[in-house]
Amino acid sequence: MQTSLQTSQELRVSGATGTVCPKSGPYHCNTHSELILFIKKDDKFPMCPVDKGHATTWSMIRSQ
Ligand SMILES: [Zn+2]
Repeated sequence: MQTSLQTSQELRVSGATGTVCPKSGPYHCNTHSELILFIKKDDKFPMCPVDKGHATTWSMIRSQ
């Protein structure tokens, strides 16, 4: 098992559709990186609206 030390700033926040968002911010669909949505903390990650809607994993966009 690989051990990696990451600072909290390096940690990428992500979550699947239906799970609770741990941190407010802009997220992109892992399938459609151009699709960006602002998701608030404690909201559930939504379906991606592209292609009639699909379940996905959302990843927070690194701020600057
Ligand atoms: Zn998508």
